[in-house]
Amino acid sequence: MPSQIPDVTLNNGVRMPVLGFGVFQVPAEQTEQTVTDALAAGYRHIDTASAYQNEQAVGRAIAASGIPRDQLFVITKLWVADAGEEGAKRAFDTSLRKLSLDYLDLYLIHQPFGDYYGSWRAMQELYKQGVIKAIGVSNFYPDRLIDLIDHNEITPAVNQIETHPFFQRGADHTLMTEHGIAHESWGPLGQGRTDLFDNPVLTKIAAAHDKTVAQIALRWLLQRDIVVIPKSVRPERMAENLDVFDFTLTGDEMALIATLDTGASSAFDHHDPAGVHWLGTARFE
Ligand code: NDP
Repeated sequence: MPSQIPDVTLNNGVRMPVLGFGVFQVPAEQTEQTVTDALAAGYRHIDTASAYQNEQAVGRAIAASGIPRDQLFVITKLWVADAGEEGAKRAFDTSLRKLSLDYLDLYLIHQPFGDYYGSWRAMQELYKQGVIKAIGVSNFYPDRLIDLIDHNEITPAVNQIETHPFFQRGADHTLMTEHGIAHESWGPLGQGRTDLFDNPVLTKIAAAHDKTVAQIALRWLLQRDIVVIPKSVRPERMAENLDVFDFTLTGDEMALIATLDTGASSAFDHHDPAGVHWLGTARFE
């Protein structure tokens, strides 16, 4: 068994494991087995989204695991097409039903598009009713984050944003820390891109610790107080990605990895009108 996964305490006192498991791009028919394997490997924090179209399969794996509900931390996300006060309440009910759960640990606004202010008001209400233990956002750049904080009652507990050695998000992290918002990385392994696994700086540091590049990337994020949710459909990689609590990167190694930042997304430009339009019109049933 891996060593115990530490928790981070969110700004409302709720505790979240600093290492979880993501299921983006896991096909629905493979998700139940994948999540079953991840839970068996020791993961207790699972990140899905209505847009991933695999919430039902996540729910089946959770139910079959027999793991007490209070030992799990389950995240799902509200899609753009469901934004707005009424849409968000409906989408929340649908997600909860698909997951076969009676509360969510964390509900995130998936993208800062559409009527997400209406969504946030609905989420604040659901939070007060106790059916969501913490509410947060995803893909919010600093300007959107500050505006949401300034014009609403509750500050998000989490902002889940693309973060990996090639897109390090230093300024975002500083701002989130100032506001008590936990930084959660998506794509911590650069979404599997080969130039990350072949990178000479990362491979050299990996060799020095007798670890893999994936483990170095995850450890580097954790040492920056960033929560990670790597995805893998392979049990051996699930175990590998959990095995990051028995070594420490030195200050020099952290500084070397800092030089790899390109300052740009490897995945999606949230300021590109065509991309924003695509996300705004995408529908997932
Ligand atoms: P990751 O950075 O987790 O990379 C996943 C890829 O890396 C897969 O191709 C996987 O392949 C491969 N991989 C996993 N472990 C290893 C390893 N040890 N060695 C080599 N290759 C490995 O990308 P994701 O996009 O999946 O991000 C993680 C999670 O973040 C998602 O699953 C999702 O939950 C969330 N996310 C959120 C977004 C948002 O907008 N809020 C956007 C994107 C992701 P294989 O499966 O074959 O092992």
